[in-house]
Amino acid sequence: MSEPQRIVIIGGGLAGAGAAAALRERGYPGEVLLFGADAHRPYELPALSKGLLIGDAEEPDWVRDQNFYTEHDVALHLGTRVTRIELGARLVLDAAGGEHRYDRLLLATGSKPRSLPVRGADLTGIHTLRTLDDALALRAAFAKADRVVIVGSGWIGSEAAAAARKHGAEVTVVGMETTPLESVLGPEVGGVFRDLHTEQGVRWRLGTSVADFVGDEGAVTGVRLTDGSVLEADVVLVAVGAAPETGLAHAAGLDLSEDGGVCVDAFLRTAAPDIYAAGDVASQFHPKYDRRIRVEHWANAKNQGEHAAANMLGDHEPYQRAPYFFSDQYDLGCEYRGLANLDTDRLVVRGDLAGREFLAFWLNENRVTAAMNVNIWDSGDALKHLVDTGTPVTDDQLLQGDLSAIA
Ligand SMILES: Cc1cc2nc3c(=O)[nH]c(=O)nc-3n(C[C@H](O)[C@H](O)[C@H](O)COP(=O)(O)OP(=O)(O)OC[C@H]3O[C@@H](n4cnc5c(N)ncnc54)[C@H](O)[C@@H]3O)c2cc1C
Repeated sequence: MSEPQRIVIIGGGLAGAGAAAALRERGYPGEVLLFGADAHRPYELPALSKGLLIGDAEEPDWVRDQNFYTEHDVALHLGTRVTRIELGARLVLDAAGGEHRYDRLLLATGSKPRSLPVRGADLTGIHTLRTLDDALALRAAFAKADRVVIVGSGWIGSEAAAAARKHGAEVTVVGMETTPLESVLGPEVGGVFRDLHTEQGVRWRLGTSVADFVGDEGAVTGVRLTDGSVLEADVVLVAVGAAPETGLAHAAGLDLSEDGGVCVDAFLRTAAPDIYAAGDVASQFHPKYDRRIRVEHWANAKNQGEHAAANMLGDHEPYQRAPYFFSDQYDLGCEYRGLANLDTDRLVVRGDLAGREFLAFWLNENRVTAAMNVNIWDSGDALKHLVDTGTPVTDDQLLQGDLSAIA
C-alpha cells in the first residue's frame, strides 16, 4: 500500500477529529483535510446531556485544544458541509464550492436525532439534542421552564431528565417501553434507573407514545399522548434515538446496512477503494460477534477513528473492541461493556440493586456477554477481561468470587 499524499476526513466529531489527530500522532507527513458542518472546533458529546446541560460545565470536552490543528497542520474546514463524493474522480465537493482530491477518505458523519412525524412537531419550545448549540439552547430553556416533557426514556432522555430536575422544573418522561432503558438493560436493571428518577421527582408516562404536540401562537404548550391525555409543557425534548448520517454515502452509491449505517468490513473499509468509515455512521462486520454491529457510543467513536487512521496508513488490523459506554445521572455513575442479547441472555447481579451499588452480568450459558458496574469503580479491568475473553464462569464465581482472579 503506497503512502497516501492526501487524506480527507468528513465529519468533525470525535471519530473524525480523533482520526486526524491520530494521523499526525503516528507521524503521517501528508496533507490532512477535516470537514465539519458544525462551526465549533471538534468536541465530544457526553457533557452535552450532563455537566453542560446542568450548568456545571461551561464548555464541552474538546477533542484537542485550540492550537492543535494549526500546530499539526490539519486543514480544518469548520462550518463546511461536504455535499458530494465522486468515487471515480476521487473528489469531495463542499458547500462552499471547493473540490478536494483524496487518496484516502474517512466518513465520520455521525448521527442525527430522529424527530417525531406528528402534528405540531415544528412548534417552538420543542428541542432535540445533538450539538453544542442544541445543548446551550436547551439549557437556557430548562433554566426558565416550569414544566418539561421529555419524549424518550433512553440514555439521553434519562440524562436530560436529571438535568431538567436540577434546574428545578417539573419533569415528565414519556416512553414507549414499560421501564426506562429497558431495550438496553432489561426491566430489572432499567427499574433501578426508574426508581432513581422517581425519587428525584420525575414523573413517568410509560408504555405510551405521542399523538401530537399542542401549541398556542406557535409555541408548544403540551404533549398529547395516544390515550388522548395532554401533558402541559413549556419545553419538550424529543430524545427518541438517532439515525446515522448516510446521505453522502448513499448518494455516492456506497452500501448501507439494514441497521442504517455504512457497511464496512472488519478493517473499517467500505467496498469503495480507499474509503473508510468510523464512529456512529459505521456498520462494521465485527469479528468478535461474527456479524455487523453499529455502535453509538463515545468509546467506539474514539477508538474506531484512531483505528481507521492507522489502517489508512497501512496497518491492516481488524477492529475487535467490544462496545463500552458510560452514563451519569444524579449520583449514579455506571459503565457497560459488551453486548447482551436480552432475548436469550440471563442476568446475574452481584451487590445491592436497590442501593444502586452493584455489578450486573448478562450471560449466554456460562459466558459473560455484557457486564455493568453501577457506583462501583474497582472492577473495570476484571469486567473487561470477562467480556473480551468469554472465559467460562460459574454464577458462584460472579456472585462471590475474586473477579480479578478469573483467568
Ligand atoms: C447528548 C449526547 C450525549 C452522549 N453521551 C454519551 C455518554 O455518556 N457515553 C457514551 O458512551 N456515549 C455518549 N453519546 C454518544 C457518543 O457521544 C457518540 O456515539 C459519538 O460522539 C459519535 O461520534 P461521531 O464522531 O461518530 O459522530 P458525531 O459526534 O455526531 O460527529 C459527526 C460530525 O460530522 C459532521 N457532519 C455530518 N455530515 C457532514 C457533512 N456532510 N459534511 C461535514 N460534516 C458533516 C457533523 O456536523 C458532526 O459534527 C452521547 C451522544 C449525545 C448526542
